[in-house]
This record gives sequence, structure tokens and C-alpha cells, in this order.
Amino acid sequence: MSKQRFLLHTCCAPCSIAIIDELKSTYDLTVFFYNPNIHPEEEYLKRKKEVVRVCKEWNVPMVDMDYEVEKWHSETKGLENEPEGGARCAKCFAMRLKYAAQYAAENNFDMYSTSLTSGRNKKADIICPLGESFGKKYGVEFHCEDWKKGGRPTSAKATVGKQESRQEKAARLINERGIYRQDYCGCVYSKYI
Ligand code: SF4
Repeated sequence: MSKQRFLLHTCCAPCSIAIIDELKSTYDLTVFFYNPNIHPEEEYLKRKKEVVRVCKEWNVPMVDMDYEVEKWHSETKGLENEPEGGARCAKCFAMRLKYAAQYAAENNFDMYSTSLTSGRNKKADIICPLGESFGKKYGVEFHCEDWKKGGRPTSAKATVGKQESRQEKAARLINERGIYRQDYCGCVYSKYI
């Protein structure tokens, strides 16, 4: 039986490396890079380069969308002073999920999801309903998961049958590869305000 086709919107390599590793064995996985929120362009290219590197290593196809900065600014207009986690972020999530859902439907994927819920300040109960509503709108299933959770924390005492939590696995994969880790969410406001 052929594997189901899964489109994973990916915000950056640190947030998605463990998810890509996990999903690639179960699904016919494609990574979708659409993040016009990232500022400046140099930073956008740096993050994208790391996602390209991970996908190449594991032979996972990657869809590289346009860097639509002007569109992102017009979507979030009037919300410049919102705190991180507020209304600007909800718009920012919605914009990226909308294009992921649209692309997934137009290209016959069975489901789609996003690595966004693995971010420390990114709540699954805000992101999942958005993903589900765009999934309904375009006719593709949204896979809702809080990627911050999952796996079993490694016990300090355990030496046999040790199992990593998802976050431990991500930290290990990032360190092994020397993957770039940013210290701000992405947009100009998260960088300077
Ligand atoms: S803080 Fe992050 S999620 Fe919020 S608007 Fe900026 S880039 Fe988007």
C-alpha cells in the first residue's frame, strides 16, 4: 500500500528537524517553506538554507515558496504593536497555513500540518483551529499535533531502552549537525520590540 502524502509547513530547521525525521518513515513527506514573516532577508535565507540542508540529507522534497514580504506587512497592518502571541501572530499563522492548505489541496496531498506548534510561545489551541478551518475551506485534512509534546523524557537513570522525548531528539539532531538556531521568532517586531 502506498504511503499517504503529507505536506509539512516548516518554519525553520530547529523547530522541524525532529518532526521531519519522525514523519518521513510513515508518510510520503514533502516540506513546504513559506515564511514571508522573517526579517531581514538575510535571516530568511539563512533559515531556509538550513531547512534545505535537512531535506537534502534525508532525501525529502521541499517546496520553496516566494518571499512575499509586502503581502505579509499588509496582512498584519495595524497590529505592529501587538505583543508576541497576540493578534499579529494569529494573522501570521493564518497566512502561512492558508497557503499550505491551498498548495496541499491543489497538489493532491492527503493531509497537511505545520511545525509552528513546536515553538515555545506558539499555542496549538490557536494554530490547530486555523489549520482545520483552512483544511475545510480547501478540502484537505489538517493533522493537528502539539509538537512540543511527545516521546518519553529520558530518565537520567535509564541506560537500557532509553527513549528520547521529541524535544531531546531535536536538540541532539541540531547539535550533531551544527544547525543555526535563531534567537527571535522572525518578524521585524519580534527582533526589535
Ligand atoms: S512574533 Fe513570530 S508569529 Fe508573531 S507575527 Fe512575528 S514572526 Fe509571526
